[in-house]
Amino acid sequence: MDHTTANELLTARRAELVLELERVDSDLESARSAKTDGTDDDEHDPEGATTSAQWSHATGMWRSVLSQIDEVDLALARVRQGNYGTCIRCSRAITDGRLEARPAAALCISCARELST
Ligand SMILES: [Zn+2]
Repeated sequence: MDHTTANELLTARRAELVLELERVDSDLESARSAKTDGTDDDEHDPEGATTSAQWSHATGMWRSVLSQIDEVDLALARVRQGNYGTCIRCSRAITDGRLEARPAAALCISCARELST
């Protein structure tokens, strides 16, 4: 994949993620205000459990979106350095199909498989 295309894909992906982060942020904000609202008496509060579940879901999402943004930023840095599309582990080329599906991929499919097993 040429670096201009990669740059466009990654920039678009980053913009999506930033929007996502803003959504998660407002979820966190409403979960936070629900949490601090009223008493800490979760046991007798039917809303309590739901609120904590929402909270942990939202914080989990937040971390996931942030780490994806990090991944995209690292990929953009590789585009600038001219080594985008090369596996950071074995230095083989990452296939276009994989890069189209996961523009921020830093590993070729075989390294990704090896590391996930
Ligand atoms: Zn590799």
